[in-house]
Amino acid sequence: VNRKRLLANWKMNLTLDQAAEWTRRVVAALPPPEEVSAMVLPSFTALDAVRRARGDAPLLIGAQDGYPQGHGAVTGEVGIEQLKDAGVSAVLAGHSERRRLLGEPDPLVAKKVEAYVGAGLTAVLCVGETEAERQAGHAEAVLRRQIATGLEPVAESALCQVLVAYEPVWAIGTGHPATPDAASEAAETIRAAVRARFGEERADALEILYGGSVDVTNLAGFLAASGIDGALVGGASLDADGFVAMMKAARG
Ligand code: PEP
Repeated sequence: VNRKRLLANWKMNLTLDQAAEWTRRVVAALPPPEEVSAMVLPSFTALDAVRRARGDAPLLIGAQDGYPQGHGAVTGEVGIEQLKDAGVSAVLAGHSERRRLLGEPDPLVAKKVEAYVGAGLTAVLCVGETEAERQAGHAEAVLRRQIATGLEPVAESALCQVLVAYEPVWAIGTGHPATPDAASEAAETIRAAVRARFGEERADALEILYGGSVDVTNLAGFLAASGIDGALVGGASLDADGFVAMMKAARG
């Protein structure tokens, strides 16, 4: 695909006013959706503020997490029906901050992917090795395991509802991104694992994003890297003007 995806993951940041202001500024500068597909992933509290500020503009709204059930007696969680009601079209699964800080294991990540896809949403499966795993030479094995487990419940016909984000843990929020070549290599490892399970055609069609200290100075390099279809941007996405500059860079 020529169109690049740009995802703004706000993590646990921004007030309602800031969220609405960010959205107004970004919407005013949105590139045509056939050139750049832009998505913002606010905190649950800001989903509605973002949706209102977005209006009919082609800015997609994603959620950073979701409980793998429509609704019900699960205190503190947000269900998939609630997310859809709030205008969400995609949900992250397995972000490394949740794996690390909240102990989310691979099987729960797989349940989430299954539930999101089953509800007609896009699942953004996040995978990536830690620094220690990389040092030990286990990076490829970790990616293969996370892909095998995370996609285990996904039927071949539903793979088009999955995006994979390669996010090496050592690159997230550190200011030390991977190189575009390393991101390409990881993307090939991911694609090979997908090919083995789903076949050539599905693997070729899978969109893979890179995430980890992406900013306006390095974005173009990642988007030009072979096998990389977009970027998941955390810290550098919080500033609306910065995100607008990245959308410009993504148009190439
Ligand atoms: C992320 O939130 O997934 C991320 C990649 O963060 P950052 O861009 O801040 O490294």
